[in-house]
Amino acid sequence: MRILVTNDDGIMAPGLLALRRALMELGDVTVVAPTTPQSAVGHAITLTDPVRVHRVSLGDGTVGWAVEGSPADCVKMALYELMPERPDLVASGINLGANVGINVLYSGTVAAAIEAAFIGLPAMSVSIEPAETVDFDGAARIARRLIDQTIARDPSRPALLNVNVPDLSKGPPKGVKVVPQSLKGWRESWERRTHPRGGTYYWMVGEMRTEEEGAETDVAALADRYVTVTPLRFDLTDHGRLDDVRGWGLRLD
Ligand code: MN
Repeated sequence: MRILVTNDDGIMAPGLLALRRALMELGDVTVVAPTTPQSAVGHAITLTDPVRVHRVSLGDGTVGWAVEGSPADCVKMALYELMPERPDLVASGINLGANVGINVLYSGTVAAAIEAAFIGLPAMSVSIEPAETVDFDGAARIARRLIDQTIARDPSRPALLNVNVPDLSKGPPKGVKVVPQSLKGWRESWERRTHPRGGTYYWMVGEMRTEEEGAETDVAALADRYVTVTPLRFDLTDHGRLDDVRGWGLRLD
């Protein structure tokens, strides 16, 4: 099996190496990841600049490709230029920081998986909650186990799965739950400061809302220490509203 591993935390991120190590047991792994951290760039692609690519040592005796671009750029570059053959699976992560709730929309980690799904490949994004000591290898083993089960499924319906792992330093997760994405967003908050030459600037200091009342969602299940699995789709059309909006009789005159 050929596997592409990418991320949004950059080619030097420990989560990337952990994922590569765990997935090497399943087949040939190619690493193509952004040169610099690209968290929260979403599905950005590079249009007005050249996309430079460097062959780099990953520090563990293996090599990968560093792409001066976004996670979506990395997947395009890997599939259309760098990999001699199409991969059988694309895995993105292990991201430092959960990608649940509305963060799924901001996430470059998830966008890389979606980019793979665009072209019909099974894809999985994997993220872990932040902690003082982050067990990336533990999260990667969980990812590997889930990938094992995913690839055994109907290949005519490639899955796009967003996986989140709770902080493993608090003990093993309670299990795995397949849950919908929460619509919880950020508790928006900005710190306003003045720079030395008198201008104003801001830091985003808001926090992700982690409380969820009664609903079975990724936010709630992760807070309850389950590994969460959310099947995603990238069709943004609100099909249920098509007929409603057609009924408005929109006109140009
Ligand atoms: Mn990230």
